[in-house]
Amino acid sequence: MPTVKLGISLSIDYAHSLPGHGKCSMLHGHTAKVTVVVRGSIPMDGKECGNYMLIDFIELRDRVKNILMELDHRNLNELFICPTAEVLAYWIYRKLREVLPSNIEIVSIRVQEGDSGWAEYEGE
Ligand SMILES: [Zn+2]
Repeated sequence: MPTVKLGISLSIDYAHSLPGHGKCSMLHGHTAKVTVVVRGSIPMDGKECGNYMLIDFIELRDRVKNILMELDHRNLNELFICPTAEVLAYWIYRKLREVLPSNIEIVSIRVQEGDSGWAEYEGE
């Protein structure tokens, strides 16, 4: 069966501070873009439309959105010891793994803070 990758991107807003890291130690905010890429095999034949789709974009988006709602418009220092982009990518990966069908592999979770920097987690 052919293997395909697909991805979605969503944005969240949050506040955080990173103690001991210069100006980042002061409370500030980001609009972060979260990009999820998944992979899986699909039959790519037959009469069912589902045979040509790994997961409906809307369904994937809804599952990711449910996870991101826990972070959106929050002060992330209330949730994590040090809420870096790395921590968020890892945390989102673990949460998403729990709610995806087993035939869908997570390729990567990328958290981009603003225009210049991002962190990505690809699993172990
Ligand atoms: Zn920051």
